[in-house]
Amino acid sequence: MKAMSKTEMLGWLRETNPDRLAELWRRADATRRRHVGDAVHLRGLVEISNFCVRQCAYCGLRAGNENLARYRMLADEIFWSAEQAVKFGYGTVVLQAGEDYGITTEWLAEVVRRIKSETPLAVTLSLGERPDKDLVAWRAAGADRYLLRFETSDRNLFEEIHPPLGNRKCDRIAMLQRLREFGFEVGSGIMVGIPGQTYASVANDIALFRELDLDMIGIGPFISHPATPLGSGFSFFPPVNGEQVPNNELMVYKAVALTRLMRPDANIPATTALATINKKNGRELGLQRGANVFMPNLTPVKYRQLYEIYPNKACITETGDACNGCLSTRIQAIGRHIGSGQGGRRDRQIIPGLEAGKEFCHA
Ligand code: SAM
Ligand code: SF4
Repeated sequence: MKAMSKTEMLGWLRETNPDRLAELWRRADATRRRHVGDAVHLRGLVEISNFCVRQCAYCGLRAGNENLARYRMLADEIFWSAEQAVKFGYGTVVLQAGEDYGITTEWLAEVVRRIKSETPLAVTLSLGERPDKDLVAWRAAGADRYLLRFETSDRNLFEEIHPPLGNRKCDRIAMLQRLREFGFEVGSGIMVGIPGQTYASVANDIALFRELDLDMIGIGPFISHPATPLGSGFSFFPPVNGEQVPNNELMVYKAVALTRLMRPDANIPATTALATINKKNGRELGLQRGANVFMPNLTPVKYRQLYEIYPNKACITETGDACNGCLSTRIQAIGRHIGSGQGGRRDRQIIPGLEAGKEFCHA
């Protein structure tokens, strides 16, 4: 069967009829079940530093935000958080941070080596656009996966909202390709509803997910942060009438569902940003409309509110224990179960006759 065309995707992205959308949710959910099953894989998220050299126009950690107290976790604190992940039965720990060169190559390599030698965890890194020598060293230390969202495939918009460091342009797509060559499982993703983002560009983003054959795809709403240029209502490219994609939960569900149809075997999280704009049941709806992963926050509570990429983040005060209990209940309530093992895409059994990424299941 052939992949959905961009025109068809655009039709779904603009769809508002609940009965028609119910069909999209049904197809995404059936495709998710068929390709990745009913397990929900949990990845413990540890936000290891909020220092950042970048000036992203959307993010509260941007270097220009002088009102934010900065922290960098100690190696022992990171290891303690990883042990929490083991205690809760998670298969992966995700170490995320701003682009912080205070996190040195060898220091992080040692942290990764310790986690890999003393726990059964997969280690995912999400540390921004680090030079190749760092990536190679961390892969050699045992890191399994790397997450780097391209945020939007619209080059002009990306260059405005994610200015270069010095005069070198950022090419996150090229970096994703190099990460794969270095042997990482590779994840990327987008924000939905960035000021200046059009429906057509979100359809292009989803087509690019397929083209890049990504292992993991994170999709969350853009959430305005008052201490950023985009938080003041500014738009670099005010779209013509009706073309601006809204940053609401319905748009995120549509993008998640279409992504599941286009990349049937990818790991797709129900993101914290989605849980933030619908604290009641955003995660559950994400999991029922294509997602199969959730990333509970294991950052020590004393640091959590300082990792303020956007305001009013979900789960900002709960301890790892509280988060874990709450998630198990929510996952069981929707008839799913918590996945065991590391839950990487490469570990999954290949279903005969289905070549990953090449087939689109009209379930
Ligand atoms: N510094 C690394 C990077 O930029 O890839 C990793 C950390 S960064 C905080 C992780 C993700 O947060 C970004 O890729 C972006 O999609 C998301 N993010 C940042 N600001 C956001 C906002 N205002 N609303 C929604 N998501 C946001
Ligand atoms: Fe830094 Fe990442 Fe935030 Fe950009 S999105 S300011 S690189 S933490």
